[in-house]
Amino acid sequence: MKSLHNLTIRKFHEGLLKKDFSALEITQKFFEYIKIKDIEIDTYLALAEKTALQEAEKTDIAIAKGENIEDLAGVPLAIKDNILIKGLQATAASKILKNYVASYDAGVIKRLKNQHAVFLGKTNMDEFAMGSSTENSAFKKTKNPHDITRVPGGSSGGSAAAVAAHMAIASLGSDTGGSIREPASFCGVVGLKPTYGAVSRAGIIALSSSLDQVGPFGKTVEDAAILFKAIAGYDPMDATSVEKNYAHNDALLSPKLENIKQLTIGLPEEYFVPGTSKEVTAAIEESIKKLKSLGLRFKTISLPHTKYALSCYYIIMTAEASSNLARFDGVRYSRNEKADDATGLRDLYLKQRGAGFGAEAKRRSILGTFVLSSGYYDAYYEKAQRVRALIKNDFDEAFKSVDVILSPVAPTQAFTIGEKVSDPLAMYLSDIFTIPVNLAGLPAISIPTTSNLSSLPVGFQLIGKKWREEDLLGIGQFYEKLEL
Ligand code: GLN
Repeated sequence: MKSLHNLTIRKFHEGLLKKDFSALEITQKFFEYIKIKDIEIDTYLALAEKTALQEAEKTDIAIAKGENIEDLAGVPLAIKDNILIKGLQATAASKILKNYVASYDAGVIKRLKNQHAVFLGKTNMDEFAMGSSTENSAFKKTKNPHDITRVPGGSSGGSAAAVAAHMAIASLGSDTGGSIREPASFCGVVGLKPTYGAVSRAGIIALSSSLDQVGPFGKTVEDAAILFKAIAGYDPMDATSVEKNYAHNDALLSPKLENIKQLTIGLPEEYFVPGTSKEVTAAIEESIKKLKSLGLRFKTISLPHTKYALSCYYIIMTAEASSNLARFDGVRYSRNEKADDATGLRDLYLKQRGAGFGAEAKRRSILGTFVLSSGYYDAYYEKAQRVRALIKNDFDEAFKSVDVILSPVAPTQAFTIGEKVSDPLAMYLSDIFTIPVNLAGLPAISIPTTSNLSSLPVGFQLIGKKWREEDLLGIGQFYEKLEL
């Protein structure tokens, strides 16, 4: 039996076909391992053992009958707790949803079910995906598998740690301002944030609807590509989803070196400034050297409005978040006992929301309501929308002379648990290199570097043109081969 530690989607699929093991056996092994390992890492908020084992068996039966199986058939996956799977809890790591059980499947889950993927359970996250360390979860603190005194990053920290600690082969997270890429970098796994509109947002508990995208984590770029291909595509249940026919794009999984070599990579001068740690800087330089050895050309570019990105994001995101959180009134979705003695509707709202939301959710509701309020709307919200257009325009200009942009993912490696909890602004700075990408709606990937300056992982970020995930995944797959 293969060790769970070496299993990628690709190897698992090949092993199944060669009958080296069954899907059921591997799924059982994952649960055995999770029950021991997760005591230390605190990745999962809920396990779905019964349904997972049933689903795994279906793949084994299909193989025994000689049927063709999909790449993801029987593959044990971990799913972030803001993504709805019918019949399982979906709390978004918030107390206000602690009793909520999803009554339907998210668009991405429907697609994965069609491929017979196996869902091991729901992973921990920052409450409503607000955060960069998973410390804002109302339920537990996930540890970084490389050093359990450190955070796994966030907000999809549970999904990144699950893959890094071999408690799932791959996983899904969501990224509004960096929540897939930053934890991928901190945990040493691959994380892809797709182009806005590439992947359905139906059935995702929304943080900021004009920024959110669901994306994959994998041990390899190839695995991220397989999972991305499976979840991408038009969904009539999401008005912002777009059909781009990723399903028939062979370049996602079988890139050609002669095409990849033609790409020019831009290095934005605003992203290479003092403030980034020496470990991160050295790791990025090392990756650039390796990519040059593949034949890729580099060019310095400028994204002049970068300095406004964080402020712009914290206005637009909070405005949308406050509107999205308004639906959690403690009457719909789930109730909790705290409000049983409420004396009227207003009192019920106050009690439910007061007890149900954590500090960060409250902070963002208040800020968001403020920037949308009459008299301040023009000064904040509308101005931020204009700045957003300038930031997007910077990328459009840059992409006239380069095909892909490379930068760090985050200014530091994983920080220690508790280090930034009392300083929200320091926490917000973790996303300085990832946020502009969401504002512009572009795809971006975090790929582990192999620098040996430190034992903690560091990822580098590749940002692509809209709908050009194939460039990021292509470069990544060749970069990965260099490491073999
Ligand atoms: N860390 C950022 C925030 O707190 C991004 C979160 C995310 O991408 N969901 O908003």
